[in-house]
Amino acid sequence: MELNLLTIDSVRTAIVQKRFTASGLVEEFYKKIGSEDREVHSYLTLCEDRARQQAERIDRMASAGEPLPPLAGVPVGIKDVMVTRGVRTTAGSKILENFIPPYDCTAVARLEAAGAIVLGKMNCDEFAMGSSNENSAYGPVRNPLDKSRVPGGSSGGSAAAVAAGMAVATLGSDTGGSIRQPASFCGVVGLMPTYGRVSRYGLIAFASSLDHIGPLTRTVKDAAIILRAIAGRDPMDSTSVDVPVPDYEAELTKPVSGLKIGVPEEYFGEGLDPEVRAAVESGIARLREAGCAMVPISLPHTQYAIPTYYVIATAEASANLARFDGVRYGYRSKSARTLSEMYRKSRDEGFGPEVKRRIMLGTYALSSGYYDAYYLKAQRVRTLLTRDFEQAFQKVDAIVTPTAPTPAFKLGEKADDPLAMYLADIYTVTADLAGVPGISVPCGKTQSGLPIGLQVLGRHFDESTILRLGHALEHR
Ligand code: GLN
Repeated sequence: MELNLLTIDSVRTAIVQKRFTASGLVEEFYKKIGSEDREVHSYLTLCEDRARQQAERIDRMASAGEPLPPLAGVPVGIKDVMVTRGVRTTAGSKILENFIPPYDCTAVARLEAAGAIVLGKMNCDEFAMGSSNENSAYGPVRNPLDKSRVPGGSSGGSAAAVAAGMAVATLGSDTGGSIRQPASFCGVVGLMPTYGRVSRYGLIAFASSLDHIGPLTRTVKDAAIILRAIAGRDPMDSTSVDVPVPDYEAELTKPVSGLKIGVPEEYFGEGLDPEVRAAVESGIARLREAGCAMVPISLPHTQYAIPTYYVIATAEASANLARFDGVRYGYRSKSARTLSEMYRKSRDEGFGPEVKRRIMLGTYALSSGYYDAYYLKAQRVRTLLTRDFEQAFQKVDAIVTPTAPTPAFKLGEKADDPLAMYLADIYTVTADLAGVPGISVPCGKTQSGLPIGLQVLGRHFDESTILRLGHALEHR
């Protein structure tokens, strides 16, 4: 069986037609993970018992001839920032090395309720901070398409596993690009829904006003199926919004001709790799052939997005990470003699360097005397960036851009230069700041065979249009 060709539909159909069982499929995946993931390192924890129980439940339903749920028997992986009841959840950090959560993240519970089978937890940058997966306390993930290169981050394990056929789909999280950028680097589809579309209950917080959960999949259709399963109001997350969830899969078949697509000049300037530019332009040409009208637009505050993001994200992170104090969760230093020493040493020994850097930056930006100059200013610029999008979406139905300025870079290439690493998010952070949805779809390759992603951004709660455009691009 070619595990790397399976899609949600093909799995479900095969189970309905009894060509294979969910239990058999799960074992095939574990075999592949056992032999191939040693090198790629996309999984941090496997949950075999839970997966086998879920698979048996699906097989019982299938043999009883019961109607099967939309994700019946589909093996998935979950980024290790989403809590799973009884299954170790680390957030890629040593500080949570032995943390066994007592409850399930809503998105995970909804996937399982829809019949999906959780194989395990995916490697990621520590607390989702990074663009290359090199910040994981458990070692990096390698890009399965070129093992000397990074898979992107912070959802690197989630992207690599789908690309390598070690899961049919995965969940990732996106705060500044962490679903779309690794999707682009690994040649898979990555969807960041509108802020509020998917509950964040059970997502270990990095920057609460920017954090989103979304799928990484092999096809746009699979992303549509997963979004429908996980989206919708959840009383456990007051920022999840009560708006109707469309049948995204059905929406895919609507034509794209006549749609107006904005092409923002700011996303095609200096720093864009020529091969990425060429691939994205060929994607744009294909959408034009499909009948879309291309409209040059401007998002004039784009140049301020990276500094704005890194002030707001670090400020929120410094507050969110205060809870890791050695008392309530996870690691506690063995050598501390007083309470305050216990706090300091637990945090010093438990957090990695990038997390510490962000806590320091964020604490500084929030400190009295600097709050107005940095945090408040960044909030104002965030409003301007949001207005850029609002104005653009009065004229166009969607916006296309490159997902990342370069293809996957080499392991170690940017590891010692945090500023260069931060620039890997230059085209993705704007959507997180504005709360609009975005999708990365493979649109071409470099001469050496590295995948390149094209990003489509949409109006608030209009995932349907960006999925449709992604689907159209995929099929031309
Ligand atoms: N790479 C960005 C960062 O390091 C985005 C991370 C994310 O989206 N979680 O903050």
